Amino acid sequence: MNIETVGIVGAGQMGNGIAHVMALAGYDVLLNDVSAEALEKALQVMAGNMERQVSRDKISSADRDAGMARIKTTQKLSELGQCDLIIESATERETVKQAIFEDLLPHLKPETILTSNTSSISITRLASRTDRPEKFMGFHFMNPVPVMKLVELIRGIATDEATFDACKGVVERLNKTAASSEDFPAFIVNRILMPMINEAVYTLYEGVGNVKSIDDSMRLGANHPMGPLELADFIGLDTCLAIMNVLHDGLADTKYRPCPLLTKYVEAGWLGRKTQRGFYDYRGETPVPTR
Ligand code: NAD
Repeated sequence: MNIETVGIVGAGQMGNGIAHVMALAGYDVLLNDVSAEALEKALQVMAGNMERQVSRDKISSADRDAGMARIKTTQKLSELGQCDLIIESATERETVKQAIFEDLLPHLKPETILTSNTSSISITRLASRTDRPEKFMGFHFMNPVPVMKLVELIRGIATDEATFDACKGVVERLNKTAASSEDFPAFIVNRILMPMINEAVYTLYEGVGNVKSIDDSMRLGANHPMGPLELADFIGLDTCLAIMNVLHDGLADTKYRPCPLLTKYVEAGWLGRKTQRGFYDYRGETPVPTR
């Protein structure tokens, strides 16, 4: 199937990144959000990020102008009806996503491919509540989208090969690499990454090391570009906890038990960079470890 027009639902940090890379790859993009403010902010963020790419010679100013011109925004979900591919990237709550698909389905062309950027919700379950489980799959980008090279493509139990191949073609046109994952809790990247982050929090909780020694150890001793606690703050500690809970519930194995200290940080509202405090305090000039 030929994909030229991409509809993106949700204009948050992931949605605007997806719109950004799609537009630069030449797709016409229709970006939807319930919030006019979120759409306005997304346009500003994309313009700022493309400007940064121009200043670093990653793209030309003509690419930036053409890219921005390909992005339209709308608060009306029905306007996404003519899109060839939909990527749902709204808030990570199953009831929210389900309501979006219910509202969207009556407006879609029969051949439109429907996908979700969910980090943790079962693709098979989301698909089963639509009229096109064979044309439904997971399209999981990494944050920040313009920088990260990987996209996980997740087949639900019913996803057909034509749908998978069409999505793989889109990933190639984005100049990114696709990793194919089966539909099991947290897919591949988070299945491996989150238990490591959770173990780093246990290492802190049990007093084996402090924030600095744990992050230094993994940066300098394992050659990771960021320490695990620094990375957890970047992702958001609430997101890390939610993914651990999905692994724990979905696989019923105690090895995925979220660390009580991670829960405590989330209860305190210390969610990492987005709230200016997590394993580091970001309110001053340089981040200061909180333990
Ligand atoms: P976010 O909170 O930044 O953005 C979510 C957006 O969805 C908000 O602008 C909100 O107004 C909008 N929204 C809520 N209900 C809506 C509705 N009914 N219709 C249209 N828009 C609606 O969240 P995010 O970090 O961009 O995450 C979005 C999705 O991407 C989630 O499924 C998340 O699991 C997934 N994801 C996140 C990351 C990450 O690192 N943050 C990485 C990969 C995937």
